[in-house]
Amino acid sequence: MIRGFSLAVHGGAGVLHRDCMTPEREAEYHAALDRALSAGEAVLDTDGSALDAVTQAVCALEDDSLFNAGRGAVFTRDKQQEMDASLMDGSNRRAGAVAGIFGPKNPILAARSVLENTDHVFMIGEGALAVARTAGLDFEDKDYFFTQERWESLQDTLKMHAEGTLDDDPARRHGTVGAVACDRNGHLAAATSTGGMTAKRSGRVGDSPVIGAGTYADDATCAVSATGDGEAFLRLCVAHEIEARMRLTGVSLEHAAADVITTELTALSGTGGIIALDCNGAITMPFNCKGMYRGWTVEGDGRKTAIY
Ligand code: ASP
Repeated sequence: MIRGFSLAVHGGAGVLHRDCMTPEREAEYHAALDRALSAGEAVLDTDGSALDAVTQAVCALEDDSLFNAGRGAVFTRDKQQEMDASLMDGSNRRAGAVAGIFGPKNPILAARSVLENTDHVFMIGEGALAVARTAGLDFEDKDYFFTQERWESLQDTLKMHAEGTLDDDPARRHGTVGAVACDRNGHLAAATSTGGMTAKRSGRVGDSPVIGAGTYADDATCAVSATGDGEAFLRLCVAHEIEARMRLTGVSLEHAAADVITTELTALSGTGGIIALDCNGAITMPFNCKGMYRGWTVEGDGRKTAIY
């Protein structure tokens, strides 16, 4: 079946407060989201797969230091960067994920190499890096991944910790990138990549690389990529919870997603959101916080981006 494609991307739910956002900065975010959409669209527009489209869109976001993934990832309390990524192909429910890695320029490609070149779904540590090296992926050093802004966020967070004044400002603490797509053959895919939470403990893993929590895709129902307080998303298995509600009760994606984010997530005092699309390519993007960097396109309808 040939049909129109759909694509959505996010750059995290940790948006800057409106009073800290300059018009120049806002324009940079919109332009970066548009570039990611354009990278995914280039795949879908030439009859490429949803899996390739979400991979390319997330690579573009990882390469942009505005977002907390790949270049520009946040720092752990030990002053390191540990990155998590996952992706899932809804056509066969194959998945690949990596956690706590440093080195591959694009962590999402490391997750993809786990999907393509191993019998496993989820890898960490030296084993994950070895798979990425064997796949011939580009590696980068500390200078490439470092940004002054993330470094200062770490210092601010550690100072607040020490003074007992730690707030829960999502703009300082987290962020993540992700993409969901429906290709012209009706196949779905989802991908998510993150540096995690500022000042996280070394070895902490959030929801982003966990299939069913931060990422899920099944052609029969939907594709989901999440962003927000990882611990709450893990406890709720957000992405799979939305999928399961659709499959088991027949509710629409919009209904399932809105209920899980506004009711369940809020009940656990978690903040964040998701981008998702169903097997007809209909997109929904609920969040329960001030904003979520996001963009979307439906074939023939142009690219759109939003923050608040
Ligand atoms: N969910 C991510 C994590 O917990 C952070 C985020 O999306 O903002 O690592």
